[in-house]
Amino acid sequence: MKKINLDIPEVAVREIRLGSITGFQGDAQSLVHCSNNGKLCDKKRSFSQCLDCSISKAVCMVALIQDAAVICHGPVGCASCLHEFAFTYRVNAPLRGVAHPTQRKIFSTNIAEEETVYGGTQKLADAIREVYTRTHAHVIFVLSTCATGIIGDDVESVADEAEKELNVPVIAIFCEGFRSKVWTSGFDAGYHGIVRKLIKPAVNHKKNVANVVNVINLGGVTFFLNGLQPLARYQII
Ligand code: SF4
Repeated sequence: MKKINLDIPEVAVREIRLGSITGFQGDAQSLVHCSNNGKLCDKKRSFSQCLDCSISKAVCMVALIQDAAVICHGPVGCASCLHEFAFTYRVNAPLRGVAHPTQRKIFSTNIAEEETVYGGTQKLADAIREVYTRTHAHVIFVLSTCATGIIGDDVESVADEAEKELNVPVIAIFCEGFRSKVWTSGFDAGYHGIVRKLIKPAVNHKKNVANVVNVINLGGVTFFLNGLQPLARYQII
């Protein structure tokens, strides 16, 4: 199994990391054969209406963290899917043991033509400051979108500078929709941000753990496996 590199802000998309595909042409026998031999090939299509955007998967992980604020850095339309996860948070709060669900803090930088031409980093820096002033969030996630990815906004640097200024984690999540045809890459992007900046490095390592797997599931029922507890039940301090 390949080790995930937590020193870089972006995680490889599933097509590259796992060879995932979204379309297969052939019978069930060849599907099983190709899958067992790691030879699955994506069916080439000239048109598709059914692909989702990774941003919606990234947000459904990070928006569940209790005292977080989430900023979608891009045109306001990209943030349209974010609010359904405020609903998800509230509906499945009892499953996750959240006794007092709070309002989710979800924002958009709403970049327009001017920022798309001249860059949106200043607007993002101002937005992070404004969101912190309004919410006093204990962590701020910044989700990138196609527009800000294409124009090359340096979201990671803005997040790092804001983190120093505000003294709370500000985490860039790279989940532009064009990055991957496999929308579940967005889950990986969300978790990558959480693990690289929120979870402290292990102090003690268990020995002989070849068959041990930690399962993290921010969105479902509470797991207690090997002493690991889901982050979403706790406020980040
Ligand atoms: S695919 Fe791109 S443009 Fe569409 S919602 Fe996702 S990030 Fe925005």
